[in-house]
Amino acid sequence: MKIVILSRNPKLYSTNRLLEAATERGHEVKVLDVLRCYMNITSHNPKIHYRGEVIDGIDAVIPRIGASVTFYGTAVLRQFEMMNVFPLNESVAITRSRDKLRSVQLLARQGIGLPITGFAHNPDDIEDLISTVGGAPLVIKLLEGTQGIGVVLAETHKAAESVIQAFMGLNANIMVQEFIKEAGGSDIRCLVVDDKVVAAMKRQGAEGEFRSNLHRGGQASLIRLTPEERSTAVRAAKIMGLNVCGVDLLRSNHGPVVMEVNSSPGLKGIETATNKDIASLIIQFIEKKHKLLESKSDRSKTRGKG
Ligand code: ADP
Ligand code: MG
Repeated sequence: MKIVILSRNPKLYSTNRLLEAATERGHEVKVLDVLRCYMNITSHNPKIHYRGEVIDGIDAVIPRIGASVTFYGTAVLRQFEMMNVFPLNESVAITRSRDKLRSVQLLARQGIGLPITGFAHNPDDIEDLISTVGGAPLVIKLLEGTQGIGVVLAETHKAAESVIQAFMGLNANIMVQEFIKEAGGSDIRCLVVDDKVVAAMKRQGAEGEFRSNLHRGGQASLIRLTPEERSTAVRAAKIMGLNVCGVDLLRSNHGPVVMEVNSSPGLKGIETATNKDIASLIIQFIEKKHKLLESKSDRSKTRGKG
């Protein structure tokens, strides 16, 4: 197959591992800087250009689109979709997952366990917003934050009130969430590929830190999932429409709750913690899909002739 990896930096661990795994399995792979892709949008012959070259004959595209380039990155991915290239994750699903509030609403609708979450616009509603999520301590999140930046723990009612006021004053989009204290500064990352949890790790935040992000100094270790955690992760991936994703869970007193679903999960932490070759599993999933799509298009061609 001819595979494109959309990534800003071929030296990143995840990009490099996917490149390595795909090459090893006999595929022709190109890593393209998504911000250097440009396109002509026509109904007959949509094309993608890259540094003066036309990108053609691609079978599959692996989006590794960073949060800072979601808008442009998903536009490029949509163009590949217009050209009938199979996307590892669809552009709409990525866009969905980048908005924490939208994700929580979609998951809630399907009955997935979540921390109680509130959202408001007017500063006059702050008091009620705080009591909706059970009062302080509570967590305040920027809707489009990532790597733990933009997540704040307000320990007291006063702190919560003033931080929410400050964010509202800056016109920042935030949501307010029940603080799952019993998680003890740890969370569980479940890596889902093709409706299966293929690897899981526990991440423990550094001493005195409630955020477990590896980027914030968290430590990864192995963990055994309960059947409920496993099925929650798989259902969350399905609801978001992501073939490959990282589903982050907290162990709360009321069962597993989903914190977020990440459409470009990093491979370094999880491959190191579990010693599993996740990159190859992802490439094998693309091979399986490609075979299915080919046999479908063969069948419709024969039908056309008959
Ligand atoms: P980001 O996208 O920045 O990673 P998250 O929503 O995943 O944002 O939050 C970052 C970290 O903060 C989580 O990994 C978790 O450890 C902690 N955290 C987030 N929400 C809560 C919560 N409601 N209760 C307890 N801890 C939380
Ligand atoms: Mg997170």
